[in-house]
Amino acid sequence: MGTDSGTAQHPRTSSFQEMWRELLPVGRHPGSRGYRRFAWTGADGECRAWFREQAEARGLTYEVDRNGNQWAWLGDPAQGDAVVTGSHLDSVPDGGAFDGPLGVVSSFAALDELRARRAEFTKPLALVNFGDEEGARFGLACVGSRLTAGQLTAEQAHLLTDGEGVTLPRAMEAAGYDPDGIGGDPERLARIGAFVELHVEQGRALDLSGDRVGIASAIWPHGRWRFDFRGEANHAGTTRLVDRRDPMLSYAETVLAARREAELAGAVATFGKIAVEPNGVNAIPSLVRGWLDSRAADQESLDQVVGGIEKAAREYADAHGIALDIVRESFTPVVEFDHALRDELARILGTGTDLKVPVLGTGAGHDAGILSGHIPTAMLFVRNPTGVSHSPAEFAAEDDCVAGVLALADVLEGLACR
Ligand SMILES: [Zn+2]
Repeated sequence: MGTDSGTAQHPRTSSFQEMWRELLPVGRHPGSRGYRRFAWTGADGECRAWFREQAEARGLTYEVDRNGNQWAWLGDPAQGDAVVTGSHLDSVPDGGAFDGPLGVVSSFAALDELRARRAEFTKPLALVNFGDEEGARFGLACVGSRLTAGQLTAEQAHLLTDGEGVTLPRAMEAAGYDPDGIGGDPERLARIGAFVELHVEQGRALDLSGDRVGIASAIWPHGRWRFDFRGEANHAGTTRLVDRRDPMLSYAETVLAARREAELAGAVATFGKIAVEPNGVNAIPSLVRGWLDSRAADQESLDQVVGGIEKAAREYADAHGIALDIVRESFTPVVEFDHALRDELARILGTGTDLKVPVLGTGAGHDAGILSGHIPTAMLFVRNPTGVSHSPAEFAAEDDCVAGVLALADVLEGLACR
């Protein structure tokens, strides 16, 4: 065990580099240079074919579960207490190369590293590619892991429809998968003792602390709220300012309040989507509908932020004679990763190595967050120098990626080989 400090020269680096180069062009748009690997499309299929090839080239037992997630097994799953690692290969529209694929490629590279170490596995090991993590096509994130965990029922999944009116089952079928069995998979979950997902960091905490790799503590609670400001449509040229009931003013003041409240609580709040009626250049709007996305380290802070924004919005609406409706459209409570597993990772990565492993929270959702309600789950983050994610500018240096591979190998060795 232990992690070399001169990671770039490590002989197993080549396995990571080779896989990374193979996957890099798949689904990359020539114009935007971003990735468009949407669930059950051609680019997703190419990524899936790649996963299968990698599994079979290593003599692993390849299978697709009832929800279309891909698994590669070393050892007999029936033995139970399996250690599982992996992530996803799909992307957001014009996403980056690292969000998802880094975790899958690192899983194979970590296995190569452990084989080179002649590690002896005492538990079954599985590598996994969860389907449709980003939700770019059907509007719901983490569909593969949600279905497996029973957090999304087969009936609900059958209603998911993409922009062209294609349902999820038909999309799976068109991609060559059988959708008849989709639904909860408790037998599979019962065979897993631990799940570890490696992921590129979607923020700059590691860059600021000067570390290559970190361990996740929790996924922040987050939610979406819709604010409907209703006023009175009127002529932009002939209506005196004092006679207007302009919902855009209350909306604009609310956007500023969101920024202020988030700063006060050390949280984030974003109005990133807006709809205006009648949406004319020369018309005072009758309706401004804005969507708030807010996330904070804990529930109390999130309540404080959203409560503060709501209070301010109501005051501004009253002041301008605007009717205001606020609807919470979705909410995900805080996900605390398993403390014992997290401490075990910190112990493994802190032994006989100078690798420092800070423990940090994240504002982004992951398959690991879904599974954490059912099995002990942990995450490793790899430094992202700009913090940019869900964009072609998303980046991690190769040395840092290799440090992530070796950290993951150490973790898998510690969990599956003792
Ligand atoms: Zn991801």
